[in-house]
Amino acid sequence: MNTKIRIFIPLALLLLLACQGSWASKSNLQPKANDPGSSSLLIDSTSGGFTEADFTRHVEQLKKKLPSPEFSVVIQRPFVVVGDEPPKVVQQHAEETIKWAVDRLKQDFFTNDPKEILDIWLFKDAASYEKHTRFLFGDEPTTPYGYYSSKDKALIMNISTGGGTLVHEIVHPFMEANFPACPPWLNEGLGSLYEQCGEVGGHIHGFTNWRLPALQQAIKAGKVPPFKTLTAMDSSAFYNNGKGTNYAQSRYLCYYMQEKGVLVKFYQDFHAHQKEDPTGFKTLQKILAQKDMEVFKKNWEKYVLGLGEEFELRPVRP
Ligand SMILES: [Zn+2]
Repeated sequence: MNTKIRIFIPLALLLLLACQGSWASKSNLQPKANDPGSSSLLIDSTSGGFTEADFTRHVEQLKKKLPSPEFSVVIQRPFVVVGDEPPKVVQQHAEETIKWAVDRLKQDFFTNDPKEILDIWLFKDAASYEKHTRFLFGDEPTTPYGYYSSKDKALIMNISTGGGTLVHEIVHPFMEANFPACPPWLNEGLGSLYEQCGEVGGHIHGFTNWRLPALQQAIKAGKVPPFKTLTAMDSSAFYNNGKGTNYAQSRYLCYYMQEKGVLVKFYQDFHAHQKEDPTGFKTLQKILAQKDMEVFKKNWEKYVLGLGEEFELRPVRP
């Protein structure tokens, strides 16, 4: 559907919602002292277990494999960002999308940074994305937006599609580092919740988005599986069967919990009880105070059918 818009709208929402959080300040940007002409910038050295020297070495290696002089590199801990848009724009993505999202995800969910230095490749358009994904990683992307490749230690994005997918993909390496046994429903539910997000009360907040109409149709057609089935899905079941509905169902379960103010508590409780409850289903029952999840599903479906896509009407690119 061409009506799908994945947008990341923190600036718009900052204005709309009178957020309390502070925007990353430009004063965090420091050109590398020993290389003032370099397009590498050091931003915020407060996070992660890696030293400045580790990042410097990593960047030196990365620079050797840059496909063209158009690419510039920005260190944005715990990531290294590399892109072929103008250096100022790459830097802007690093600060206004990546740092913004990382700070807020860590505030609410994640304690550990990814165990390795991961690169975030921001390709300027579809042609660059397709060409370089093949050239650098030997991959044929299955999505036009971007993806996380654990084997390549990289997030690989077509940034012309907006920053929303980037925020979605940032969730995955953090989940891997903090909750490696997290089932696909929560990993994708949280990732896709934040593919359209902003800031409310100083916290990251997901808004309704393009996944809603298809989910509403599936609900009307009685094609949405019970939550017991969704939460028990392993990767092959989740990604291969009715993938679209699985993502959307997970997203709007997370959205529901967010709107009820229990999403962060659910994540913490599930994380704490993952051994006894590896799917999260029992923790869900508890947090929703609902033993009969078929009753909950009926209420949730009614709630989802009442939602609208209003935030899509004011897209603002980062
Ligand atoms: Zn994902």
